[in-house]
Amino acid sequence: EKTVNIIGAGLAGSEAALQLASRGVRVRLMEMRPATSTPVHHTDECAELVCSNSFKSTKPESAAGMLKAELSSLGSRLIDAAWENKVDAGGALAVDRDGFSRRVTELVRGNELIDYRVEEVTDPFAYEADATIIASGPLTSDALAAWLARTTGEESLAFFDAAAPIVAADSLDMDVLFRQSRYEQDAPGDYLNAPFSKESYDAFIEELLAAQRVIAKDFETKDLFQACQPIEEIARKGHDAPRFGTCKPVGLVDPATGRRPWAAVQLRAENAERTAYNLVGFQTNLTFPEQRRVFRMIPGLENAEFARYGVMHRNTFIDAPRLLGRDMRLAPERCAGHDVYIAGQLSGTEGYCEAIMSGLVAALNAFARLTARELPRLPRETAFGALLDYATDPATQGYQPMHVNFGIMPPLPERVRNKQQRYAAYAARGFAAMEGYVADLRVRGIL
Ligand code: FAD
Repeated sequence: EKTVNIIGAGLAGSEAALQLASRGVRVRLMEMRPATSTPVHHTDECAELVCSNSFKSTKPESAAGMLKAELSSLGSRLIDAAWENKVDAGGALAVDRDGFSRRVTELVRGNELIDYRVEEVTDPFAYEADATIIASGPLTSDALAAWLARTTGEESLAFFDAAAPIVAADSLDMDVLFRQSRYEQDAPGDYLNAPFSKESYDAFIEELLAAQRVIAKDFETKDLFQACQPIEEIARKGHDAPRFGTCKPVGLVDPATGRRPWAAVQLRAENAERTAYNLVGFQTNLTFPEQRRVFRMIPGLENAEFARYGVMHRNTFIDAPRLLGRDMRLAPERCAGHDVYIAGQLSGTEGYCEAIMSGLVAALNAFARLTARELPRLPRETAFGALLDYATDPATQGYQPMHVNFGIMPPLPERVRNKQQRYAAYAARGFAAMEGYVADLRVRGIL
């Protein structure tokens, strides 16, 4: 009888545990919550969704839609739980987050082959097991991150990500804000614009630079997503830098003055009902009270209520192209004879469905290896196969966590100009490849 240790009962870890248990493998699933929590988790349930409740598009001709179909073909338990807890969301699969996590928790904790323990793992090699899957997520505890850094030889695994604040629509001053998309004065635009005069802009930037930040000291030295720089960092590069970037006024005409404003903040609706707006490009690291104080200096936002404050959060991931094999196994020479797989966000496969799929694939790999079966390669033409290829190809440079997308799929044999037809062709090709793969797994007794 084989035992696999799994670290983290998040999306990847819970899926991996259920997959292994369904194949008769004993699982020791170690989750640190609630004894120790992360800055973004709030419950002690398995597979808690830390942010949005959306699993993205269900459209078959989209990469996200392909991934969902692939999850179902491979018998994902969590995608079933998601469908069981679906709420209305147009073309997307959105879930009742409590119902979803509750269902996953029931499945995991009710499974007699899964020994669920509340425990923070700080040294995975300290436990006996036939294999280990580390699925501790973007907020892997500090001690485990330090262990990973020592073991993988990577200097730093900590990484910061930034998200913009959201304000409630009914708290905005619509006499000051104007609805307009750039260069489209005559059409009702998608954006609300907050127009700065030179004076209000100067005062705003001054306070933005002076404001208290969450991580005051060393984060300038850390890597940030280039595309996701916090607004105060942009301003630090130059007083006018926001005015030439995120806050550029080009193509806008303020109906109140008939002129282009000195600078403008754009707000984009967060939902179809337009009850909440996102401050476009305003990812920030300011403390919450400072966000309230400083962002209320933006014209029209004087009484803004914040539905969500901007956050900076750690995003831990390994340099997968240099550390992981296509089977998601950590380079054996670093593991002192242990069989270690890395799944979920920690491997850089980013997104809820991606995390679920990487837990599933890591489990299949572990199962195949433990039972001396050969697991065929997940075809590159599938959405997740393409992502795995990208994530584990030593040629990949400057590795960043990534969602599934058409951009990393192998090109079609012939050029298809029409975008819709091209996507349909990718999807049809991926679907056929997946059918073949599933049949192959059945023959081998893996599925
Ligand atoms: P998690 O679901 O975070 O699970 C990891 C688990 O490991 C946690 O339960 C944690 O408590 C536990 N753990 C950590 N360290 C230890 C330890 N040492 N010992 C034992 N247990 C440990 N993706 C989306 O698709 N949509 C979004 O809206 C979205 N929002 C995000 C917002 C934030 C702030 C972050 C950080 C990420 C977001 N992501 C989002 C990316 C990603 O899809 C999610 O983080 C997803 O939950 C990753 O799944 P996971 O299984 O890898 O990690």
